[in-house]
Amino acid sequence: MPGQTNTLQVQDIPEPQAGVGEAVVRVLQAGLCGTDVEITAGLFGEAPPGCGYLVLGHENLGCVETAPAGAALSPGDLVVATVRRPCPEESCLPCRSGQNDMCLTGRYRERGIQALHGFMSARYCEDPGNLVRVPPHLRGVGVLVEPMTVAQKGLEQAFRIQQRLSWRPRQAVVLGAGPIGILAAAALRIRGLDVTVASREPQGSTRESLLREAGIAYASTATTTVEELPRRLGTIDIVFEATGATPLIAGAMSLLGPNGVCILAGVTEVGHRVPVDLGGWNRQMVLGNRLVFGVVNAGRRHFEAAVRDLEVAEERLPGWLRRLITRRLPAGDAARAVVREPGDIKTVLEFE
Ligand code: BGC
Repeated sequence: MPGQTNTLQVQDIPEPQAGVGEAVVRVLQAGLCGTDVEITAGLFGEAPPGCGYLVLGHENLGCVETAPAGAALSPGDLVVATVRRPCPEESCLPCRSGQNDMCLTGRYRERGIQALHGFMSARYCEDPGNLVRVPPHLRGVGVLVEPMTVAQKGLEQAFRIQQRLSWRPRQAVVLGAGPIGILAAAALRIRGLDVTVASREPQGSTRESLLREAGIAYASTATTTVEELPRRLGTIDIVFEATGATPLIAGAMSLLGPNGVCILAGVTEVGHRVPVDLGGWNRQMVLGNRLVFGVVNAGRRHFEAAVRDLEVAEERLPGWLRRLITRRLPAGDAARAVVREPGDIKTVLEFE
């Protein structure tokens, strides 16, 4: 129950009933992320109105069981559902134009997070417009589509905003070697950049070797401070912040070279005060035409782009993506899945 601590339960719930025009999807896998952990800790989330519980799960992979007439989907298709549904406000231009991920009012709903049940159940019903097809050969890794959308939205927007100048980014730094950091690094590598991931795991860790296999460099913040990176690497054009750790945010922004872009994708806790030389920071931003922006959630086109990048990654380095899924547990073991274990990258619940 959102808002209460440690109320995670595995329980029987009624079969969902498909509304007019909805598809029924059998869940194959659901991934766990920090948001799920926060919800189970009672810090975030909201149950659907009138319901005493929230079905968790927004990272998903399923198989269409029935599709409504006229839908571009057929039974047996693999699909991933998008997470956010539009707010009801007439005045919310983004929600009224299919850009729920940019909602202005905050009255959106999110499956498995905010006022709508998620995907950690045997089946769910959904409007086919919110379902994105995944090719059969991505069956083992399709559950990574949703976390990959965060990177896709950040990069798409960075490249769009940077149309303000002639820009050919060469060097990127990703802060954080969690699933989003690793997937963002892979997406940057696919776009031909030199990429370094900086994270707290020591040099020589399995994460480092995983990254190196994909041609991505690794710097341990145990031995190198983030601030040293520009001296080691030269001009940094893109910084992707995926730790959500407050002390790193100021450092992340100060890494940027001239015309550089810093994408903030980690959700930080509120209330951590960190001393910052704001004058110095502003001066750097202004004199270098630098840019910092935040991103959350993702629209359908980012899901489609995520599928394409997972296909490229799978083709270039078969089996690599699969190794990001470090624990696969039966759905009934949800309570074990939310407790982090050393070496975890992505934990997934299996529903079949
Ligand atoms: C999800 C997003 C969601 C955000 C805030 C993230 O974990 O991936 O879809 O918008 O949490 O609720």
